[in-house]
Amino acid sequence: MSTENTMSADIENGPTVLDGKATAKAVRADVAVGAARLTELGRAPGLTVVLVGDDPASQVYVRSKDKAATEAGFVVNTIRLGADAPQSEIEAAVDSLNADDSVDGILVQLPLPKGLDSDAVIERIDPGKDVDGLTATSVARLAMGRDGMVPCTPAGCVEILNRHGIDLSGKDVVVIGRSQLVGKPFAQLALARNATVTICHSRTRDLAAHCRNADVIVAAVGVAKLVQGDWVKPGAVVLDVGINRGEDGKLVGDVDYAAAATRASAITPVPGGIGPMTIAMLLSNTLRASALRQGIELAG
Ligand code: NAP
Repeated sequence: MSTENTMSADIENGPTVLDGKATAKAVRADVAVGAARLTELGRAPGLTVVLVGDDPASQVYVRSKDKAATEAGFVVNTIRLGADAPQSEIEAAVDSLNADDSVDGILVQLPLPKGLDSDAVIERIDPGKDVDGLTATSVARLAMGRDGMVPCTPAGCVEILNRHGIDLSGKDVVVIGRSQLVGKPFAQLALARNATVTICHSRTRDLAAHCRNADVIVAAVGVAKLVQGDWVKPGAVVLDVGINRGEDGKLVGDVDYAAAATRASAITPVPGGIGPMTIAMLLSNTLRASALRQGIELAG
C-alpha cells in the first residue's frame, strides 16, 4: 500500500489496521522455513534465555518466547537463576553460553532484580549472539548503518511497515520516546530508510504540534492514551508501541486508538499490534545469527 495513493480512500473507509498477530505469524512461518533449512544443512538454531528471579511478567514473556521459538523449530533453553544470584553468577552463565557453539542467541530477560548491573551483564554477551541488539557493539553498528543485530521491538515496527508496503522514505516521522530499547533504535532505522526524523521525549515542548506535522507517529512512551486523536494528521500512519493497563485493567496503548483511527490511514492496535512482532523479530534475529555462525546462506 502506498500511503499517498490510498490516503483519502483510507480515511473514508477507515484505516488499515496493521494486524501484528497476522503479520507476526507470517514472519514466524518464514523463520520456520529458514530454521528447517539450517537443521537440514547444519543444526537447528539455538536460543538460550537467562531468567533471573521470579518477576511474574518476565516469566510470562519467557514462556511466550520459548513457545514461539520451539514452534519455529529452534532448540530453546532457559537458565533460571534465583533473585539473590550474585552478579558474578549471572556473568558466568553468559560466559558459558558465549563459549557454547550450539547457542546462537543469548537473551537476558530484563529487568534484572534490583542491585544487579544489567548493563554489565548485557555487555558480556558475544555481539554475534546478541539477538536483543542491546550490546554497545550492536548499538554502534546500527548508528553507523552497518549490518548487525537490531532490537526486536523497533525491528518489528519496521517489519510491519514493510509487510504492508508502507515506505518511510521522505516521510516526516515523529518518534515519541528516546529509550535505548525502542525510541532511539527506531529513529536510527527510520533515518536509514531516508525518513526525516524528530525524536520527542518528556522535555519536548508542544508534543501535539510535532505530532500534527507527522506523516508517521511512533509512540513508545508508557503513558496510556497520551496521543490524542486530533494530534494525528489526516492520513498519517500510527504505530503504538505502548503497553499500559487502563483503569478497567485492560491493556491500552499510548494512543487514543478510537479517536486516532478516525484520522489515520493505518494504525496498530493494542494489544495485537507491535507486541506480537517483537517475539517474531527475536526469532528472526536468532535465525540470522545462527545462519551467520554456521556459514549457511538463507534465501531472502
Ligand atoms: P522507557 O524506557 O520508560 O522510555 C519512555 C520514553 O518516553 C522516555 O524517553 C521518556 O522521556 C518518554 N516520555 C515519558 N513521558 C512522556 C511524555 N509525557 N511525553 C513525551 N515523552 C514522554 O520506555 P520503553 O522501554 O521505551 O517503553 C515504552 C513503552 O513501550 C512502554 O509502555 C513499554 O511497556 C512498551 N514496550 C512495548 C514493547 C512491545 O513489545 N510492544 C516492547 C518494549 C516496550 P525521557 O527520556 O525524557 O524520560
